[in-house]
Amino acid sequence: MSHLLSSQTETALMYDAVHLFAKALHDLDTSQQIDVRPLSCEAEDTWPHGYSLINYMKIVEMKGLTGVIKFDHQGFRSDFTLDIIELTRDGLQKAGTWNSSEGVNYTRSYGENQKQIVEILQNKTLIVTTILSAPYCMRKEASEKLTGNAQFEGYAIDLIHEISKILKFNYTFKLAPDGRYGSQNRETKEWDGMIRELLEQRADLAIADLTITYDREQVVDFTMPFMNLGISVLYRKPIKQPPNLFSFLSPLSLDVWIYMATAYLGVSVLLFILARFTPYEWHPTHTPDGEKMENIFSLANCLWFAIGSLMQQSCDFLPKAVSTRMVAGMWWFFTLIMISSYTANLAAFLTVERMDSPIESAEDLAKQTKIKYGALKGGSTAAFFRDSNFSTYQRMWSFMESARPSVFTSSNKEGEERVMRGKGSYAYLMESTTIEYVVERNCDLTQVGGMLDSKGYGIAMPPNSPYRTAISGAVLKLQEEGKLHILKTKWWKEKRGGGSCRDDTSKSSSTANELGLANVGGVFVVLMGGMGVACVIAVCEFVWKSRKVAVDERVSGALMFIKY
Ligand code: ASP
Repeated sequence: MSHLLSSQTETALMYDAVHLFAKALHDLDTSQQIDVRPLSCEAEDTWPHGYSLINYMKIVEMKGLTGVIKFDHQGFRSDFTLDIIELTRDGLQKAGTWNSSEGVNYTRSYGENQKQIVEILQNKTLIVTTILSAPYCMRKEASEKLTGNAQFEGYAIDLIHEISKILKFNYTFKLAPDGRYGSQNRETKEWDGMIRELLEQRADLAIADLTITYDREQVVDFTMPFMNLGISVLYRKPIKQPPNLFSFLSPLSLDVWIYMATAYLGVSVLLFILARFTPYEWHPTHTPDGEKMENIFSLANCLWFAIGSLMQQSCDFLPKAVSTRMVAGMWWFFTLIMISSYTANLAAFLTVERMDSPIESAEDLAKQTKIKYGALKGGSTAAFFRDSNFSTYQRMWSFMESARPSVFTSSNKEGEERVMRGKGSYAYLMESTTIEYVVERNCDLTQVGGMLDSKGYGIAMPPNSPYRTAISGAVLKLQEEGKLHILKTKWWKEKRGGGSCRDDTSKSSSTANELGLANVGGVFVVLMGGMGVACVIAVCEFVWKSRKVAVDERVSGALMFIKY
């Protein structure tokens, strides 16, 4: 938009100047006798009424063609109004007025102004600066044969194409020479990357995964965000742990196992004591020495009764007294609940492959020093940690700054490669949308934890750019029509190997229900162990009994046993 002083205004100013001079001269003439005599340009003498005439001109107040004519004490014109004229397709048109007290006053409405801007944009060729960053802007495969805009493809390329279709402008891509997003040098205060291209008027728009930040917003203008994201952690997928042989112990924690063993022993001992105490567990039996009172609940039998109930088996003797039956009933109730809970939890522990990851969130990263972590150099992610007031992030920033070799990367691709190479010793702080793109294609990588903040990507343009509202409107339109979502699906899930890791996860989950020997091997081990112990006990019993009989009969143990 160009605001000009029209030639009519210039003529009117000239007219008013002459009129003012004449009026001042007339006023001076009425107040004093003035004579006009010729003066030589070479001579030193001056016209004595010159200063008086200037003073008269300063105090004159009259209405001229250019409005009120009035001067301040320095002789500059004050209280005047200027018309703002605009060069349009139909010639010069008045767009508003300006006066020294109120400033600009556009007579056209906001809507008319925007209409005018959209008209100006039509068929205009805008220079769009960007950087190579997948999937926003990438070189096409075999791009050596291509030139100009045709060399590039990606989300940002499609987005600007859609916007240009709405606003009908042309565009030419120009890569930022340093390949950076844009950050300010703290000492020189100079900007680099795409922001510098805008500030030095070498580009009209900057489109990429360029984050809207406070610092950038101070020097350039941003449109409405076209994508929302937050910072997260890119890390290697945890190596799958082989299933634990004794995973059948996992459904209950160690504490619960200890409490159960204690309860088992406690209940057995209580049953033994109560059975001794109650008269109803004593029964008369005939022995060679006569009739004797016998109690079936010896300590060994009590232990056997309790373990039988715990294993959901029956026993060939049962309590008869109310007190011992009460103990048995409560123990059965206890085992019912414990065994049901154990069974319900068991399937999950036998089938789930444990993925042990040393870090689960950014806080975990901050707590340790073994795993190094970094971010993109000069990007908004690094700036987030640098400027944060939160102690965890401040600690992370000092760690990143002091790490040698440097943990900062010059591109997100380099960060991704470093995480791969690091084999778990390097994590990369990156924006969630880019992480989403990477983990769709690189099945060895994953996002760890949630987002640390929430922000958006916007299209940047030089400060006070008249196109901002029009382009923001186009972004909103595309969002409301669902085009932005379609573009995201296209570049994230479909193009360039998208979705290759999704097959991987579905395959593994379909085979996850089958239990292998590795899952249940521990049960076999326990069984074999039990059998072995039983054999050892049998030998001990044999030896014990043989020695006892041998002592009793005073003959060799082996011979006696055969006879016996
Ligand atoms: N999108 C970021 C930026 O605009 C890059 C990053 O720091 O991850 O600076």
